[in-house]
This record gives sequence, structure tokens and C-alpha cells, in this order.
Amino acid sequence: MTAHQRNLRPQGQPLYLTERFRVYTHRQLDQIEPLRRLPEDERFAMRVVASVLPFRVNQYVIDNLIDWERVPDDPVFQLTFPQRGMLAPAMFDAVAGALRRGATAHELRRIANDLRRELNPHPAGQRALNVPRLDGRALDGMQHKYRETVLFFPSHGQTCHAYCTFCFRWAQFVGDRDLKFAANETEDLRRYLAAHPQVTDLLITGGDPMVMTTGQLRSYLEPLTDARLEHVQSIRIGSKAISYWPQRFVCDPDADDLLRLLGSLVRAGKHVALMAHLNHWQELEPAIAREAVRRLRDAGVVIRAQAPLLRHVNDHADAWARLWRTEVRLGIVPYYMFVERDTGARNYFELPLARAWEIYRDAVRQVSGLARTARGPSMSAAPGKVEVQGVTEIHGERVFVLRFIQSRDPDWAQRPFFARYDPRATWLHDLRPAFGEKEFFFEPQLRAMRAAATTAG
Ligand SMILES: *Cc1c(COP(=O)(O)O)cnc(C)c1O
Ligand code: SF4
Repeated sequence: MTAHQRNLRPQGQPLYLTERFRVYTHRQLDQIEPLRRLPEDERFAMRVVASVLPFRVNQYVIDNLIDWERVPDDPVFQLTFPQRGMLAPAMFDAVAGALRRGATAHELRRIANDLRRELNPHPAGQRALNVPRLDGRALDGMQHKYRETVLFFPSHGQTCHAYCTFCFRWAQFVGDRDLKFAANETEDLRRYLAAHPQVTDLLITGGDPMVMTTGQLRSYLEPLTDARLEHVQSIRIGSKAISYWPQRFVCDPDADDLLRLLGSLVRAGKHVALMAHLNHWQELEPAIAREAVRRLRDAGVVIRAQAPLLRHVNDHADAWARLWRTEVRLGIVPYYMFVERDTGARNYFELPLARAWEIYRDAVRQVSGLARTARGPSMSAAPGKVEVQGVTEIHGERVFVLRFIQSRDPDWAQRPFFARYDPRATWLHDLRPAFGEKEFFFEPQLRAMRAAATTAG
């Protein structure tokens, strides 16, 4: 037995041999063994919510990340399983009624689709404003919002090992794809990058690109070592696999091959960063997750961690402090704390910005400098990433101090600006400028950009 097999579970067979392919979707909720212990009305509520919002979980998450004694309060349970409060009562009742009267699958789908449209499925102007163009043609599998960084959505990587209940990409998991893929996406990517020497970073995202086989990943990654792409110095891969499917890096049949592929990019002079979605320290407890981290680092990959702040999951300073300390101990760099986006089940997860900032502050105060590298709380809004730097009083007016970490116009970044304090505000669009100003400094320019994008069609 190798070390990683011993690490899987204290007794019984290695997980990957017995249950590798066990994934449950909303149709298989009834087959999830530990759920059977819950009261019938809670299970019904899950079916209702999972008819509208995406649900998918695998056996690894069920067996290793959730403390079933603490359900429904367990954070990873909240992160992966649908909860009644994720739908507004009227929406919930509409679906519950349909299920009770035995509505047809067709009728249910129609009701669900109507409700999804009310849940802001495409937040922050993703569609219109960020689409790059090549020879006058829109490249739908990419986004280019910030000068240095291009986002690439490989068509084979648009699903995940398990779905997070808060995910802002939720619409694509229920079949509402805002992504149309080009026939030759790798070639388009290569040509677009070659034509844009200001791009230093490529961020490969999804879904979770780590659902792809190593062979598929290689077809996307190897062309990036082309001499004409010398300016693309960093390749980031956004993934939750360390937490939801660490086998990907440890004992999947092509795990060793994957690490060799990533290592070869490092040796070719690229900075390879795994942008790990980690919401809670519990996700890093299993030995196999730590083994995955160790193997990635051995391959020369830098792991950076980011996650949104979520009510019911990680809305405590202590939880963040422990997460960041665990990350630093394992060699992971804390990178971002996000504010939950204005989409999907946001009413269930959101916290006032004032509260988010307090949690961030109280967490940072508990950790050493090495763990203070996470910026936030940060809102990924249409004009850019806006960080809440604090709450203070200026000339008798209580204000939020804000700054752009990233901005659609690079000149906006780092300039402090101020919003009237509002204890209930949860997102940038709730905020009004302080000191009686009519609009924020960036708004005229943002309007002009929007108008230009509409004309370009
Ligand atoms: C966050 C983000 C990036 C990367 O920004 P960094 O500050 O470099 O991490 C790039 N594109 C989009 C659309 C983003 O939201
Ligand atoms: S792993 Fe990432 S992309 Fe997938 S559901 Fe979770 S947050 Fe969304």
C-alpha cells in the first residue's frame, strides 16, 4: 500500500477504487444514505430547491468533508446541499405546489426556468462588456476585463466535481449557458494572446478545469509555451479539486501525468498558480487533501486561495483565521476574500458590507503577517473589484472607505473613494457617494464604456 492509499480512509477500501464515479444530482437525492436520517419535510425542501438551483455532490464530499452529526449547521453541508431558505417563500411554494400535485417534468422545467430568470443569472455585465474580439469576431469562450488578465473557459471544463450552493456560475449548470464555444478555441486563444502583449496572465476557469483529463488539459496548456507567448508569464487555473476531488492530484489514473504536465510548464518558465476555492478549514482536514497540496507544490505549482464570505458557511472571524493559518501552514497563499455576488441564492448567503468588513478585520487581527495576504472583502462588480477598506468618520459623516483592487480602466485602481455608510448595504449598487456628491468618480467613464459596448454589439 502506498502512502496516499493509507491516507484515504482509516478503514475499508481505498475510496477511489470503490466509489470513484459516484456522483449524485437532484434526481438521486433519495439515494444519499446519510440524508435518510433527516426529517421528511427537510428532504422535500431539498428536492424543491434542487429543482431550480443546481445540485451535484460526490461521495468524497459526503464521506470526508461533512460532519453529519452537525447537519444542517455543518458548513460544507450548507456549501453543497440545497436549503429551504435559498429560495424566496413565493418561489419555494410555487415549486413545492407543482411537486405535490405531481406536475410533469415538462411543467416543472418551465416553472424552474421562469424562476431562474428572476435570480439574476448573469451578474456584473459579464456578457456584454468583457467579450474579446479577434478579426471582428466575438470570442465567447473568453473574457478580457482587466488589461493584464484574460479569462479562458475551456469547453471541456465547464462542470464541477460538486456544485457550491452559492456559485455565481450556477446558471450554466442548469443548462443556461452564456458560453458559446468556438470550434477551434485553442487556436483562437493562442492568436488572441499573441496579439495582446500587455496580457501577462491567463486564468483558466470554468466550472472547474480540473474535471478535464490530463490529455484535454495538455491540449490547452502546451501551446502556451510557444515563444510568441513569452509575455504570458502566469498561468492560473481556478479549481476546487483540492477540496472536492483531491484524488485528481494523488491517485486518479492520470494524476502523475497531470503533475508532470504542470511541472513542465514551470520548467518552461511559467508561473503556474492553482487558484484554490477554499471556503472553510474543514475542507483541508482530510489527509488526501494535504497530500494533493504537497504534490502540487512539489511540482512547482503555487497555490493561492480565494473564497466568498457566506452566511451559514464562514461568517465568523475565527473560521477565516483558522482557514488562513491552515493554508499558510500547508504552503498555500491566502489571496482574496470575496463578497457574495448578487445572483442566485444571494439572499440566503449575503451579509451587510459593514459586517463583512468587521469579520475580515477581526480575522486579520488573529493571524501573523504571512496569513494577512488575503485582500478583501472585495466585490467583483461591473466597474471592477472594489474592496471595502473600512468604516470611518470624515467631517462628521460616517463613510465606507473603498478602493479598486482591479478596474476596467487601470487608472481607477488604488484611488480611495467614499460611500455614505449604510448598515444594510450588501453590494456596490446599494451604495451612494459620500459628501453629497451625485455619483462616484468612475461612473461617467463606465457609462461611456457601456454605450461603446452596445454599439459594438
Ligand atoms: C479577479 C479577476 C481577474 C484577476 O484579477 P487579479 O487581481 O489579477 O487576481 C481577472 N479577470 C476578472 C474578470 C476577474 O474578476
Ligand atoms: S467549484 Fe467553483 S465553479 Fe464549481 S460550483 Fe463551486 S464555486 Fe462554482
